[in-house]
Amino acid sequence: MAVTRRRFNAALAASAATLQFGFNLTSARAAYRGPNVIIVRFGGGVRRAETIVPDTTWAPYLVNVLAKRGVLIPDVHIADIEGMDTSHAEGTINILTGRYAAWKDAGSKFLTPRIEPTAPTLFEYLRKAFDIAPHEVLLINGEDRPQEEFFSFARHKKFGGAFRAEVLSLYRYKRWLYQTLIAEGRAKSEQLENLAEQMKKFDKHTLPGRTPKANARLDRFWQHWRRDYRETGLINARGDQLLTELALRAMRQLKPRLMMINYQDPDYVHWGNASHYTRAIAVIDRGLRQLVETADHMDAYAGRTVFVVIPDCGRDSNSLLGIPFQHHFNTKSAHEIWALVAGPGIARGRVLDKPIDQSQIAATVGAVMGFKARYAEGDAISDLFS
Ligand SMILES: [Zn+2]
Repeated sequence: MAVTRRRFNAALAASAATLQFGFNLTSARAAYRGPNVIIVRFGGGVRRAETIVPDTTWAPYLVNVLAKRGVLIPDVHIADIEGMDTSHAEGTINILTGRYAAWKDAGSKFLTPRIEPTAPTLFEYLRKAFDIAPHEVLLINGEDRPQEEFFSFARHKKFGGAFRAEVLSLYRYKRWLYQTLIAEGRAKSEQLENLAEQMKKFDKHTLPGRTPKANARLDRFWQHWRRDYRETGLINARGDQLLTELALRAMRQLKPRLMMINYQDPDYVHWGNASHYTRAIAVIDRGLRQLVETADHMDAYAGRTVFVVIPDCGRDSNSLLGIPFQHHFNTKSAHEIWALVAGPGIARGRVLDKPIDQSQIAATVGAVMGFKARYAEGDAISDLFS
């Protein structure tokens, strides 16, 4: 068949798009018709004893209600790899990419961890396979974890920023507010200085090519946040309750198809007080309940949403240590976690009695959503599906 001029021009435009964005714009991506997935990182490191063991749990909703709606996997392991720490960034990137050590340290600056994923994240697989807008794929981050801002996409030549997730966090709000106040031109200099000061901690982590992009849907989201919680930071929820609030509002206003919530507060036990740990587990459990109950009452989510609940890492069991519940000593129980998966297509009320590796979660989410996590090491957990 002769190549007409019109076709030739289209081919040229397509290759220009490939050069500029790293993907072919003319190959229309399919509309996404699969289930929504909400990944709840039961994070900040938790042990099985305080979460999934019925007699000693601080998470009654997880154990007594949600487990009955899905498959509980009590024996998930984090592989023991030489030189790998059982910690938050490592576990989170493993959940998101299905690969251990799929991150690189972009060079410490004043001993600040600046790491980014090097294998594609679930967000990128999904957005590359389907026609899904950035605001429909969300990462909800804690207010004190600047290093987690960069988990929204990988440094990877076939994936990366063109397929990123958007991030919702207090940092993102302050950043938006700061720019908005300057544009409005009527903020007091004291207020601007205060905001600039608060953002400095995050700026130390900034990596090249990772500046958040303008997004009209997120603008509106933050406008509503500002209307309700104003500008002081004193009215909105804090800690992991803030993450629940961001996630619930996101469900109502942005309707994400894939969302990961990076809960973190059990980690405050690093300061030595065991009740910080157990109380934080109860707060995440209440958040989980609110997320599921909200999903149950929304057309966009009811009967169409798979919840994947998984810790980033475990914690030590050695009660002889001066400060209990740490996780950097590579002890056995720091590698021992669990998972709970519930929703359409997943078996109900079952306990999967077989060892599973944390790196299988990414491929499993891919199987639920209809894409292949090609770079993941672990296989999908096929026993989950009903
Ligand atoms: Zn920690």
